[in-house]
Amino acid sequence: MSHHQRRVLSVASECAPLLKTGGLADVVGALPAALARLGWQSRILMPAYRGMLDQVGSTSEVWHDDDLFGGPAVVRSGTCHGLDLLLLDAPHLFDRPGGPYNVDGRDHPDNPVRFAALSWVGAQVAIHGTADDWRPDVVHVHDWQAGLVPSYLKYAGSDVPTLLTIHNIAFQGMFSPEQLDHLRLPTWDFHSESLEYHGHVSTLKAAMVHATRVTTVSPTYAEELTTPEFGFGLEGVARMRRDRGEMLGILNGIDTTVWDPATDPSVIPYSAADPAAKAENRRALLDEFSLDEPMGPLAVVVTRLTHQKGVDLLLETLPRFVEAGGAVVVLGSGDPAHEHGLNELSSRFPRSVGVRIGYDEPLSHRMYAGGDLVLVPSRFEPCGLTQLYGLRYGAVPVVAATGGLRDTVVDATPANLAAGTATGFTFGDPRQGGIIDAGGLSFALGRAVDLYADRAAWLRLRETTMRESVDWDTSATRYADLFAEMMR
Ligand code: ADP
Repeated sequence: MSHHQRRVLSVASECAPLLKTGGLADVVGALPAALARLGWQSRILMPAYRGMLDQVGSTSEVWHDDDLFGGPAVVRSGTCHGLDLLLLDAPHLFDRPGGPYNVDGRDHPDNPVRFAALSWVGAQVAIHGTADDWRPDVVHVHDWQAGLVPSYLKYAGSDVPTLLTIHNIAFQGMFSPEQLDHLRLPTWDFHSESLEYHGHVSTLKAAMVHATRVTTVSPTYAEELTTPEFGFGLEGVARMRRDRGEMLGILNGIDTTVWDPATDPSVIPYSAADPAAKAENRRALLDEFSLDEPMGPLAVVVTRLTHQKGVDLLLETLPRFVEAGGAVVVLGSGDPAHEHGLNELSSRFPRSVGVRIGYDEPLSHRMYAGGDLVLVPSRFEPCGLTQLYGLRYGAVPVVAATGGLRDTVVDATPANLAAGTATGFTFGDPRQGGIIDAGGLSFALGRAVDLYADRAAWLRLRETTMRESVDWDTSATRYADLFAEMMR
Protein backbone atom coordinates (compact mmCIF):
# COMPACT_ATOMS: atom_id res chain seq x y z
CA MET A 1 0.00 0.00 0.00
CA SER A 2 1.56 3.26 -1.07
CA HIS A 3 1.20 6.32 1.09
CA HIS A 4 2.33 8.99 -1.32
CA GLN A 5 -0.15 11.37 -2.82
CA ARG A 6 -1.75 9.71 -5.81
CA ARG A 7 -0.34 10.66 -9.18
CA VAL A 8 -1.81 10.96 -12.64
CA LEU A 9 0.14 11.50 -15.84
CA SER A 10 -1.99 13.28 -18.41
CA VAL A 11 -0.79 12.88 -22.00
CA ALA A 12 -2.18 15.32 -24.55
CA SER A 13 -1.34 17.39 -27.61
CA GLU A 14 -2.83 20.64 -26.25
CA CYS A 15 -3.16 22.35 -22.92
CA ALA A 16 -4.73 25.74 -22.19
CA PRO A 17 -3.54 28.38 -21.79
CA LEU A 18 -0.26 27.33 -23.41
CA LEU A 19 -1.64 25.99 -26.63
CA LYS A 20 -5.25 25.58 -27.61
CA THR A 21 -7.15 24.78 -30.76
CA GLY A 22 -10.30 23.54 -29.02
CA GLY A 23 -12.06 22.24 -25.96
CA LEU A 24 -9.54 19.46 -25.40
CA ALA A 25 -6.99 22.05 -24.29
CA ASP A 26 -9.42 23.61 -21.81
CA VAL A 27 -10.07 20.24 -20.21
CA VAL A 28 -6.42 19.22 -19.98
CA GLY A 29 -5.56 22.60 -18.46
CA ALA A 30 -8.44 22.80 -15.99
CA LEU A 31 -8.66 19.28 -14.59
CA PRO A 32 -5.37 19.32 -12.59
CA ALA A 33 -6.47 22.04 -10.16
CA ALA A 34 -9.80 20.31 -9.52
CA LEU A 35 -8.09 16.92 -9.08
CA ALA A 36 -5.52 18.45 -6.72
CA ARG A 37 -8.34 19.31 -4.31
CA LEU A 38 -9.15 15.58 -4.27
CA GLY A 39 -5.59 14.45 -3.49
CA TRP A 40 -4.42 13.77 -7.03
CA GLN A 41 -1.20 15.29 -8.29
CA SER A 42 -1.12 15.79 -12.07
CA ARG A 43 1.70 16.13 -14.52
CA ILE A 44 0.92 16.93 -18.14
CA LEU A 45 3.10 15.49 -20.88
CA MET A 46 2.80 17.45 -24.12
CA PRO A 47 5.01 18.37 -27.08
CA ALA A 48 7.28 21.39 -26.83
CA TYR A 49 6.01 23.06 -29.98
CA ARG A 50 8.02 25.96 -31.37
CA GLY A 51 8.34 28.79 -28.86
CA MET A 52 6.73 26.90 -26.02
CA LEU A 53 9.85 26.49 -23.89
CA ASP A 54 10.16 30.29 -23.82
CA GLN A 55 6.65 30.51 -22.36
CA VAL A 56 7.57 28.16 -19.54
CA GLY A 57 10.89 29.65 -18.44
CA SER A 58 13.21 27.55 -16.35
CA THR A 59 12.98 23.78 -16.75
CA SER A 60 14.97 20.74 -15.75
CA GLU A 61 15.72 17.66 -17.79
CA VAL A 62 13.93 14.58 -16.43
CA TRP A 63 14.20 12.09 -19.30
CA HIS A 64 16.08 11.73 -22.53
CA ASP A 65 16.53 9.46 -25.51
CA ASP A 66 19.20 9.78 -28.20
CA ASP A 67 16.91 8.42 -30.86
CA LEU A 68 13.21 9.05 -30.53
CA PHE A 69 11.98 8.00 -33.97
CA GLY A 70 14.82 9.71 -35.80
CA GLY A 71 16.28 12.37 -33.52
CA PRO A 72 17.27 13.21 -29.98
CA ALA A 73 14.59 14.01 -27.43
CA VAL A 74 14.53 15.45 -23.94
CA VAL A 75 11.64 15.79 -21.52
CA ARG A 76 11.85 19.07 -19.62
CA SER A 77 9.91 19.60 -16.43
CA GLY A 78 8.61 23.07 -15.63
CA THR A 79 5.61 24.93 -14.33
CA CYS A 80 3.40 27.46 -16.02
CA HIS A 81 0.08 28.95 -14.88
CA GLY A 82 0.18 26.58 -11.93
CA LEU A 83 0.41 23.54 -14.20
CA ASP A 84 3.12 20.94 -13.75
CA LEU A 85 4.35 20.28 -17.28
CA LEU A 86 6.55 17.69 -18.91
CA LEU A 87 7.50 19.14 -22.27
CA LEU A 88 8.70 16.75 -24.91
CA ASP A 89 11.52 18.64 -26.59
CA ALA A 90 12.19 16.79 -29.84
CA PRO A 91 13.07 19.43 -32.44
CA HIS A 92 12.89 17.03 -35.39
CA LEU A 93 9.22 16.46 -34.56
CA PHE A 94 7.91 19.63 -32.97
CA ASP A 95 10.13 22.65 -33.67
CA ARG A 96 8.56 23.84 -36.90
CA PRO A 97 6.24 26.53 -38.20
CA GLY A 98 2.46 26.17 -38.28
CA GLY A 99 -0.05 24.80 -35.80
CA PRO A 100 0.19 21.62 -33.78
CA TYR A 101 -1.37 19.46 -36.51
CA ASN A 102 -1.00 21.37 -39.74
CA VAL A 103 0.71 24.16 -41.59
CA ASP A 104 -1.02 26.29 -44.22
CA GLY A 105 -4.11 24.09 -43.95
CA ARG A 106 -2.23 20.83 -44.60
CA ASP A 107 -1.55 18.13 -42.02
CA HIS A 108 2.10 17.69 -41.13
CA PRO A 109 2.90 14.56 -43.17
CA ASP A 110 4.69 12.91 -40.25
CA ASN A 111 1.81 13.33 -37.73
CA PRO A 112 1.67 9.58 -37.09
CA VAL A 113 5.33 9.61 -36.04
CA ARG A 114 5.07 12.84 -34.07
CA PHE A 115 2.24 11.61 -31.90
CA ALA A 116 3.43 8.04 -31.69
CA ALA A 117 6.57 9.60 -30.20
CA LEU A 118 4.49 11.52 -27.66
CA SER A 119 2.68 8.30 -26.74
CA TRP A 120 5.93 6.31 -26.58
CA VAL A 121 7.41 8.78 -24.11
CA GLY A 122 4.19 8.71 -22.07
CA ALA A 123 4.51 4.94 -21.79
CA GLN A 124 8.22 5.18 -20.86
CA VAL A 125 7.49 7.69 -18.10
CA ALA A 126 4.70 5.45 -16.82
CA ILE A 127 6.95 2.40 -16.74
CA HIS A 128 10.29 3.83 -15.61
CA GLY A 129 9.36 7.12 -14.00
CA THR A 130 11.27 10.35 -14.48
CA ALA A 131 14.77 11.29 -13.30
CA ASP A 132 13.21 13.28 -10.46
CA ASP A 133 11.71 10.03 -9.22
CA TRP A 134 8.11 10.51 -10.24
CA ARG A 135 6.00 7.67 -11.48
CA PRO A 136 2.24 7.85 -12.11
CA ASP A 137 -0.37 5.57 -10.56
CA VAL A 138 -2.59 6.04 -13.60
CA VAL A 139 -2.17 7.52 -17.07
CA HIS A 140 -4.91 9.67 -18.57
CA VAL A 141 -4.65 9.83 -22.35
CA HIS A 142 -6.59 12.25 -24.52
CA ASP A 143 -7.78 11.57 -28.07
CA TRP A 144 -5.87 9.97 -30.94
CA GLN A 145 -2.72 11.97 -30.35
CA ALA A 146 -2.04 10.10 -27.11
CA GLY A 147 -3.87 6.99 -28.30
CA LEU A 148 -0.89 4.65 -28.47
CA VAL A 149 0.06 4.96 -24.79
CA PRO A 150 -2.14 2.03 -23.66
CA SER A 151 -0.87 -0.11 -26.56
CA TYR A 152 2.81 0.60 -25.84
CA LEU A 153 2.19 -0.22 -22.17
CA LYS A 154 0.46 -3.45 -23.11
CA TYR A 155 3.26 -4.58 -25.45
CA ALA A 156 5.81 -3.77 -22.72
CA GLY A 157 3.88 -5.96 -20.27
CA SER A 158 3.14 -3.02 -17.97
CA ASP A 159 0.02 -3.00 -15.83
CA VAL A 160 -0.14 0.74 -15.15
CA PRO A 161 -3.86 1.48 -15.63
CA THR A 162 -4.90 3.85 -18.39
CA LEU A 163 -7.95 5.98 -19.03
CA LEU A 164 -8.74 7.13 -22.55
CA THR A 165 -10.92 10.22 -22.80
CA ILE A 166 -12.50 10.75 -26.21
CA HIS A 167 -13.05 14.44 -26.90
CA ASN A 168 -14.05 13.91 -30.52
CA ILE A 169 -14.34 10.53 -32.21
CA ALA A 170 -14.25 12.10 -35.68
CA PHE A 171 -10.46 12.42 -35.48
CA GLN A 172 -9.04 8.90 -35.43
CA GLY A 173 -5.27 9.07 -36.02
CA MET A 174 -5.03 6.89 -39.13
CA PHE A 175 -1.87 5.69 -40.81
CA SER A 176 -0.70 2.93 -43.08
CA PRO A 177 0.32 -0.47 -41.65
CA GLU A 178 3.66 -0.09 -43.44
CA GLN A 179 4.59 2.28 -40.63
CA LEU A 180 3.95 -0.26 -37.86
CA ASP A 181 7.55 -1.37 -37.59
CA HIS A 182 8.97 2.11 -37.58
CA LEU A 183 6.48 3.11 -34.87
CA ARG A 184 7.57 0.16 -32.72
CA LEU A 185 4.22 -1.59 -33.01
CA PRO A 186 3.97 -5.37 -33.51
CA THR A 187 2.60 -6.55 -36.85
CA TRP A 188 1.05 -9.58 -35.09
CA ASP A 189 -1.44 -7.27 -33.40
CA PHE A 190 -2.57 -5.74 -36.69
CA HIS A 191 -6.02 -7.29 -36.92
CA SER A 192 -9.58 -6.08 -36.65
CA GLU A 193 -9.87 -6.73 -32.92
CA SER A 194 -6.90 -4.53 -32.14
CA LEU A 195 -4.87 -1.99 -34.15
CA GLU A 196 -6.53 -2.48 -37.51
CA TYR A 197 -9.26 -0.27 -38.80
CA HIS A 198 -10.32 -0.91 -42.39
CA GLY A 199 -6.82 -1.72 -43.56
CA HIS A 200 -5.25 1.18 -41.66
CA VAL A 201 -4.00 1.67 -38.16
CA SER A 202 -6.15 3.93 -36.00
CA THR A 203 -4.51 5.17 -32.81
CA LEU A 204 -7.90 6.12 -31.38
CA LYS A 205 -9.24 2.64 -31.96
CA ALA A 206 -6.08 1.18 -30.43
CA ALA A 207 -6.74 3.16 -27.27
CA MET A 208 -10.44 2.24 -27.26
CA VAL A 209 -9.38 -1.40 -27.31
CA HIS A 210 -6.39 -1.26 -24.95
CA ALA A 211 -7.19 1.37 -22.32
CA THR A 212 -8.32 0.10 -18.93
CA ARG A 213 -11.34 2.39 -19.13
CA VAL A 214 -12.81 4.75 -21.69
CA THR A 215 -14.69 7.96 -21.03
CA THR A 216 -16.13 10.59 -23.23
CA VAL A 217 -17.12 14.08 -22.28
CA SER A 218 -20.87 13.73 -21.80
CA PRO A 219 -23.32 10.94 -21.00
CA THR A 220 -25.36 11.54 -24.16
CA TYR A 221 -22.27 11.42 -26.39
CA ALA A 222 -21.25 8.17 -24.69
CA GLU A 223 -24.56 6.68 -25.82
CA GLU A 224 -24.37 8.26 -29.25
CA LEU A 225 -20.92 6.79 -29.88
CA THR A 226 -22.43 3.33 -29.91
CA THR A 227 -24.52 4.21 -32.98
CA PRO A 228 -23.43 4.28 -36.65
CA GLU A 229 -24.59 7.88 -37.00
CA PHE A 230 -22.13 9.22 -34.40
CA GLY A 231 -19.53 6.46 -34.04
CA PHE A 232 -17.69 7.25 -37.28
CA GLY A 233 -17.02 3.55 -37.78
CA LEU A 234 -15.93 2.94 -34.19
CA GLU A 235 -19.42 2.21 -32.86
CA GLY A 236 -18.66 -1.51 -32.59
CA VAL A 237 -15.76 -1.09 -30.19
CA ALA A 238 -17.67 1.63 -28.34
CA ARG A 239 -20.56 -0.77 -27.87
CA MET A 240 -18.25 -3.50 -26.63
CA ARG A 241 -16.70 -1.26 -23.95
CA ARG A 242 -20.10 0.17 -22.98
CA ASP A 243 -21.67 -3.29 -22.66
CA ARG A 244 -18.86 -4.36 -20.35
CA GLY A 245 -19.47 -1.29 -18.20
CA GLU A 246 -16.07 0.10 -19.16
CA MET A 247 -17.14 3.23 -21.01
CA LEU A 248 -19.03 6.15 -19.57
CA GLY A 249 -19.61 9.88 -20.01
CA ILE A 250 -18.26 12.51 -17.62
CA LEU A 251 -19.27 16.06 -18.44
CA ASN A 252 -16.64 18.74 -18.85
CA GLY A 253 -16.69 21.66 -16.50
CA ILE A 254 -15.13 25.05 -17.07
CA ASP A 255 -12.35 26.78 -15.21
CA THR A 256 -14.38 29.23 -13.17
CA THR A 257 -11.27 31.05 -11.97
CA VAL A 258 -10.63 32.10 -15.57
CA TRP A 259 -14.26 32.26 -16.69
CA ASP A 260 -15.95 34.48 -14.13
CA PRO A 261 -17.63 37.69 -15.29
CA ALA A 262 -17.00 39.21 -11.85
CA THR A 263 -13.22 38.97 -12.17
CA ASP A 264 -12.53 38.47 -15.89
CA PRO A 265 -10.04 41.21 -16.90
CA SER A 266 -11.52 41.29 -20.43
CA VAL A 267 -15.00 42.41 -19.34
CA ILE A 268 -16.80 45.07 -17.32
CA PRO A 269 -17.50 43.12 -14.11
CA TYR A 270 -20.95 41.79 -13.25
CA SER A 271 -22.49 38.76 -11.58
CA ALA A 272 -25.77 36.93 -11.15
CA ALA A 273 -26.43 38.94 -7.99
CA ASP A 274 -25.48 42.24 -9.63
CA PRO A 275 -25.96 41.89 -13.38
CA ALA A 276 -26.39 45.58 -14.25
CA ALA A 277 -23.04 45.91 -16.04
CA LYS A 278 -23.92 43.16 -18.49
CA ALA A 279 -25.76 45.87 -20.44
CA GLU A 280 -22.51 47.88 -20.67
CA ASN A 281 -20.69 44.87 -22.07
CA ARG A 282 -23.47 44.50 -24.61
CA ARG A 283 -23.21 48.16 -25.60
CA ALA A 284 -19.42 47.87 -25.92
CA LEU A 285 -19.71 44.80 -28.13
CA LEU A 286 -22.23 46.50 -30.42
CA ASP A 287 -19.88 49.49 -30.66
CA GLU A 288 -16.85 47.33 -31.33
CA PHE A 289 -18.61 45.90 -34.39
CA SER A 290 -20.40 49.17 -35.34
CA LEU A 291 -23.80 47.56 -34.97
CA ASP A 292 -27.09 49.35 -34.27
CA GLU A 293 -28.95 48.71 -31.06
CA PRO A 294 -31.25 45.82 -32.01
CA MET A 295 -34.90 45.56 -30.97
CA GLY A 296 -34.32 41.93 -30.11
CA PRO A 297 -31.49 39.88 -28.62
CA LEU A 298 -27.81 40.12 -29.51
CA ALA A 299 -26.56 36.63 -30.35
CA VAL A 300 -22.91 35.57 -30.34
CA VAL A 301 -21.18 32.63 -32.00
CA VAL A 302 -17.63 31.53 -31.11
CA THR A 303 -16.60 28.49 -33.08
CA ARG A 304 -14.43 26.58 -35.46
CA LEU A 305 -16.11 27.12 -38.82
CA THR A 306 -16.85 23.53 -39.79
CA HIS A 307 -19.71 21.34 -40.90
CA GLN A 308 -19.79 19.80 -37.40
CA LYS A 309 -20.60 23.18 -35.89
CA GLY A 310 -23.60 23.76 -38.18
CA VAL A 311 -22.28 26.99 -39.65
CA ASP A 312 -24.34 26.37 -42.78
CA LEU A 313 -27.47 26.25 -40.59
CA LEU A 314 -26.53 29.66 -39.20
CA LEU A 315 -26.01 31.09 -42.68
CA GLU A 316 -29.46 29.87 -43.65
CA THR A 317 -31.20 31.06 -40.51
CA LEU A 318 -29.60 34.32 -39.49
CA PRO A 319 -31.25 36.56 -42.14
CA ARG A 320 -34.65 35.70 -40.70
CA PHE A 321 -33.37 36.24 -37.14
CA VAL A 322 -32.02 39.67 -38.10
CA GLU A 323 -35.29 40.59 -39.81
CA ALA A 324 -37.08 39.59 -36.59
CA GLY A 325 -35.03 42.19 -34.71
CA GLY A 326 -31.95 40.21 -33.70
CA ALA A 327 -28.29 41.09 -34.12
CA VAL A 328 -25.33 38.75 -34.19
CA VAL A 329 -21.56 38.75 -33.77
CA VAL A 330 -19.55 35.78 -35.05
CA LEU A 331 -15.94 34.92 -34.19
CA GLY A 332 -14.36 31.94 -35.87
CA SER A 333 -12.03 30.53 -38.43
CA GLY A 334 -11.92 27.44 -40.55
CA ASP A 335 -13.63 26.42 -43.77
CA PRO A 336 -13.05 29.21 -46.36
CA ALA A 337 -16.56 28.75 -47.79
CA HIS A 338 -18.04 29.43 -44.35
CA GLU A 339 -15.76 32.42 -43.83
CA HIS A 340 -16.92 33.77 -47.16
CA GLY A 341 -20.59 33.13 -46.36
CA LEU A 342 -20.33 34.95 -43.06
CA ASN A 343 -18.54 37.93 -44.57
CA GLU A 344 -21.28 38.15 -47.18
CA LEU A 345 -23.96 38.06 -44.51
CA SER A 346 -22.24 40.91 -42.73
CA SER A 347 -22.06 42.99 -45.92
CA ARG A 348 -25.74 42.35 -46.46
CA PHE A 349 -26.63 43.41 -42.89
CA PRO A 350 -23.72 45.69 -41.91
CA ARG A 351 -25.60 47.23 -38.94
CA SER A 352 -26.83 43.90 -37.57
CA VAL A 353 -24.19 41.27 -38.29
CA GLY A 354 -20.57 41.56 -37.17
CA VAL A 355 -18.00 38.98 -38.23
CA ARG A 356 -14.41 38.53 -37.12
CA ILE A 357 -12.48 35.81 -38.89
CA GLY A 358 -9.65 34.58 -36.70
CA TYR A 359 -8.89 33.26 -33.26
CA ASP A 360 -9.11 35.81 -30.46
CA GLU A 361 -9.35 34.68 -26.86
CA PRO A 362 -10.04 38.11 -25.21
CA LEU A 363 -12.69 38.91 -27.83
CA SER A 364 -14.40 35.59 -27.07
CA HIS A 365 -14.69 36.70 -23.42
CA ARG A 366 -16.14 40.07 -24.43
CA MET A 367 -18.65 38.28 -26.65
CA TYR A 368 -19.95 35.94 -23.95
CA ALA A 369 -20.23 38.99 -21.66
CA GLY A 370 -21.99 41.14 -24.26
CA GLY A 371 -24.27 38.53 -25.77
CA ASP A 372 -27.88 37.86 -24.85
CA LEU A 373 -27.68 34.50 -26.62
CA VAL A 374 -24.92 32.11 -27.60
CA LEU A 375 -25.75 29.94 -30.61
CA VAL A 376 -24.44 26.36 -30.84
CA PRO A 377 -26.25 24.49 -33.66
CA SER A 378 -23.75 21.60 -33.81
CA ARG A 379 -24.59 18.43 -35.75
CA PHE A 380 -22.73 16.52 -33.07
CA GLU A 381 -21.05 17.86 -29.97
CA PRO A 382 -19.10 15.64 -27.57
CA CYS A 383 -19.55 18.14 -24.74
CA GLY A 384 -19.20 21.69 -26.00
CA LEU A 385 -17.77 24.44 -23.89
CA THR A 386 -19.17 27.55 -25.49
CA GLN A 387 -22.67 26.91 -24.12
CA LEU A 388 -21.12 26.54 -20.64
CA TYR A 389 -19.34 29.89 -20.99
CA GLY A 390 -22.67 31.28 -22.20
CA LEU A 391 -24.44 29.96 -19.10
CA ARG A 392 -21.79 31.44 -16.84
CA TYR A 393 -21.87 34.85 -18.54
CA GLY A 394 -25.64 35.05 -18.96
CA ALA A 395 -25.60 34.57 -22.74
CA VAL A 396 -28.54 32.18 -22.88
CA PRO A 397 -27.63 29.13 -25.03
CA VAL A 398 -29.58 28.15 -28.13
CA VAL A 399 -28.33 24.65 -28.88
CA ALA A 400 -28.93 21.53 -30.93
CA ALA A 401 -30.12 18.75 -28.60
CA THR A 402 -27.14 16.48 -29.16
CA GLY A 403 -24.26 15.20 -27.04
CA GLY A 404 -23.17 17.43 -24.20
CA LEU A 405 -25.38 20.27 -25.42
CA ARG A 406 -28.38 18.17 -24.57
CA ASP A 407 -26.91 17.29 -21.16
CA THR A 408 -26.15 20.89 -20.15
CA VAL A 409 -29.06 22.99 -21.40
CA VAL A 410 -32.65 22.69 -20.17
CA ASP A 411 -35.15 23.84 -22.78
CA ALA A 412 -37.32 26.85 -21.98
CA THR A 413 -40.63 25.05 -22.32
CA PRO A 414 -43.52 26.69 -20.48
CA ALA A 415 -43.29 23.96 -17.82
CA ASN A 416 -39.53 24.38 -17.31
CA LEU A 417 -39.87 28.16 -17.23
CA ALA A 418 -42.60 27.91 -14.61
CA ALA A 419 -40.50 25.49 -12.56
CA GLY A 420 -37.48 27.79 -12.81
CA THR A 421 -35.31 25.05 -14.32
CA ALA A 422 -35.02 26.35 -17.90
CA THR A 423 -31.53 27.48 -18.96
CA GLY A 424 -31.80 27.91 -22.72
CA PHE A 425 -33.38 26.78 -25.96
CA THR A 426 -32.86 23.40 -27.58
CA PHE A 427 -33.93 22.04 -30.95
CA GLY A 428 -33.79 18.86 -32.99
CA ASP A 429 -33.95 16.37 -30.12
CA PRO A 430 -34.01 12.96 -31.84
CA ARG A 431 -35.80 11.50 -28.82
CA GLN A 432 -38.73 13.72 -29.74
CA GLY A 433 -38.46 12.91 -33.43
CA GLY A 434 -36.55 16.13 -34.13
CA ILE A 435 -33.73 16.61 -36.58
CA ILE A 436 -30.96 19.17 -36.45
CA ASP A 437 -31.72 21.46 -39.36
CA ALA A 438 -32.24 25.10 -40.23
CA GLY A 439 -35.97 24.90 -39.57
CA GLY A 440 -35.36 23.69 -36.03
CA LEU A 441 -32.79 26.36 -35.34
CA SER A 442 -35.06 29.01 -36.77
CA PHE A 443 -37.93 27.92 -34.56
CA ALA A 444 -35.71 27.97 -31.47
CA LEU A 445 -34.46 31.46 -32.36
CA GLY A 446 -38.05 32.58 -32.80
CA ARG A 447 -38.89 31.36 -29.31
CA ALA A 448 -35.83 33.21 -27.96
CA VAL A 449 -36.90 36.45 -29.68
CA ASP A 450 -40.40 36.10 -28.21
CA LEU A 451 -39.20 35.43 -24.68
CA TYR A 452 -36.67 38.25 -24.90
CA ALA A 453 -39.56 40.64 -25.48
CA ASP A 454 -40.96 39.69 -22.06
CA ARG A 455 -38.34 41.51 -19.99
CA ALA A 456 -39.20 40.01 -16.59
CA ALA A 457 -39.34 36.46 -17.91
CA TRP A 458 -36.06 37.01 -19.75
CA LEU A 459 -34.21 38.31 -16.72
CA ARG A 460 -35.47 35.38 -14.68
CA LEU A 461 -34.21 32.92 -17.29
CA ARG A 462 -30.87 34.71 -17.51
CA GLU A 463 -30.40 34.62 -13.77
CA THR A 464 -31.07 30.87 -13.71
CA THR A 465 -28.42 30.31 -16.37
CA MET A 466 -25.85 32.35 -14.48
CA ARG A 467 -26.46 30.44 -11.25
CA GLU A 468 -26.15 27.04 -12.94
CA SER A 469 -23.20 25.06 -11.62
CA VAL A 470 -20.67 24.60 -14.45
CA ASP A 471 -17.40 24.25 -12.54
CA TRP A 472 -15.23 21.15 -12.43
CA ASP A 473 -15.93 19.96 -8.91
CA THR A 474 -18.59 17.33 -9.63
CA SER A 475 -16.86 15.91 -12.67
CA ALA A 476 -13.38 15.91 -11.11
CA THR A 477 -14.79 13.76 -8.32
CA ARG A 478 -16.04 11.30 -10.93
CA TYR A 479 -12.60 11.15 -12.58
CA ALA A 480 -10.93 10.66 -9.19
CA ASP A 481 -13.35 7.85 -8.32
CA LEU A 482 -12.69 6.23 -11.68
CA PHE A 483 -8.90 6.48 -11.26
CA ALA A 484 -9.19 4.86 -7.83
CA GLU A 485 -11.35 2.09 -9.26
CA MET A 486 -8.81 1.50 -12.05
CA MET A 487 -6.03 1.07 -9.49
CA ARG A 488 -7.82 -1.78 -7.75
P1 ADP B 1 -14.33 22.24 -30.07
O1 ADP B 1 -13.34 21.72 -29.07
O2 ADP B 1 -15.04 21.20 -30.85
O3 ADP B 1 -13.77 23.31 -30.96
P2 ADP B 1 -15.70 23.33 -27.71
O4 ADP B 1 -16.98 24.09 -27.57
O5 ADP B 1 -15.52 22.13 -26.86
O6 ADP B 1 -15.52 22.98 -29.26
O7 ADP B 1 -14.48 24.29 -27.38
C1 ADP B 1 -14.19 25.40 -28.18
C2 ADP B 1 -13.29 26.32 -27.38
O8 ADP B 1 -12.52 27.13 -28.28
C3 ADP B 1 -14.04 27.30 -26.51
O9 ADP B 1 -13.22 27.62 -25.41
C4 ADP B 1 -14.21 28.52 -27.43
O10 ADP B 1 -14.40 29.70 -26.70
C5 ADP B 1 -12.89 28.49 -28.15
N1 ADP B 1 -12.89 29.06 -29.50
C6 ADP B 1 -13.34 28.49 -30.64
N2 ADP B 1 -13.13 29.28 -31.69
C7 ADP B 1 -12.55 30.40 -31.21
C8 ADP B 1 -12.07 31.62 -31.81
N3 ADP B 1 -12.16 31.82 -33.12
N4 ADP B 1 -11.51 32.55 -31.00
C9 ADP B 1 -11.41 32.33 -29.66
N5 ADP B 1 -11.83 31.21 -29.05
C10 ADP B 1 -12.39 30.26 -29.80
